[in-house]
Amino acid sequence: MFGSLLALCRCLFATTNFPKGSLVYQGRCSLVENVLNFTLRDSDDEACTRRQFYGFDGFMNHSCAPNLHCPGTERAADHMLYDAHAVRDIAVGDEITCDYSVLDYECDGHAIEVCGCGAPRCRGSMKGFKGLPLAEQVRVLHHADAELVEHFMGATNAYIYETKLLDGVGLACDDDMDAPGGGSSCRLVAAKDFEPGDVVFKNKCVLMYPEKGDLDKMLLLRVSNLGERFFGRGGLGSVAEPVGCGTPSRYFLLEPDHHCIHRPTHVEVIGFDIFMDHSCEPTTSQEYTSSTDYTVYATRAMKVGEAITCDYEQGLGNAAEGTASLETTKFQCLCDAATCRGLIRA
Ligand SMILES: [Zn+2]
Ligand SMILES: [Zn+2]
Repeated sequence: MFGSLLALCRCLFATTNFPKGSLVYQGRCSLVENVLNFTLRDSDDEACTRRQFYGFDGFMNHSCAPNLHCPGTERAADHMLYDAHAVRDIAVGDEITCDYSVLDYECDGHAIEVCGCGAPRCRGSMKGFKGLPLAEQVRVLHHADAELVEHFMGATNAYIYETKLLDGVGLACDDDMDAPGGGSSCRLVAAKDFEPGDVVFKNKCVLMYPEKGDLDKMLLLRVSNLGERFFGRGGLGSVAEPVGCGTPSRYFLLEPDHHCIHRPTHVEVIGFDIFMDHSCEPTTSQEYTSSTDYTVYATRAMKVGEAITCDYEQGLGNAAEGTASLETTKFQCLCDAATCRGLIRA
């Protein structure tokens, strides 16, 4: 593996091609007492004196849109091991980079005041995880180690709702999820063909009661199996195969006004189906079998890669409960249906 990378002028370059998702190398970092001030302290705890001492990959530069992600695989008193994966295709001659922001919460004197990474949407500086805007913290949270995630959870009072993309459904995004600001244009797509009347998926929601303070917490959605169900970029029907995204899971910030279903007495926090777009001629309809369980049916034939849509104005399948309309969910529909109703109040 070491023959595939070249350290030069304090940068690391690839000397072979690495496809997205592939293992670039298995790394080892020694944990040693009080050496060299330019090394990272091993913990956010100020009392910690242990430093992280890297090998050849100590030459790796920071990028705001890195091509490497290095999740830990083993941690012992004197060392840690990690697998360096390509988060995008890496070609011979490309510089190998990682995002320093996910390595350190406070940054402890290692801030980069003016970032020169050259990424199209470079953040401008690197001041550790704490210095990232909230949307960026959530976007890269899957790259952070357990201690950093714990620090972030404590600082934001967040509640994580775990979800899994079920058989037959996948996610497609038009923007680059691995670049700053990415991941904001995702939609649910069919991962197989459906006939009218087929069950597309069955799901369960969590009920929250605003008067009990349930919505005072920051809500995060963690899609734990996105890597195997990510369809990448492309328009309607233009993708046929999941492309993977280098990492198995992703976090998304839930905005209760937009991503939850507001009923007169409570709020439903749904899972991966927050990515279902509205259409005035939707491809699915929902049917609730209890206050928390619902089944989504295909209303017409759907091909792999086609958007799974629903009609936000139809009570979302629960006529008995109905919906509480919020002025914040009013939007101009661009669904292209011949019968498009224009202004939607969901
Ligand atoms: Zn940058
Ligand atoms: Zn419409």
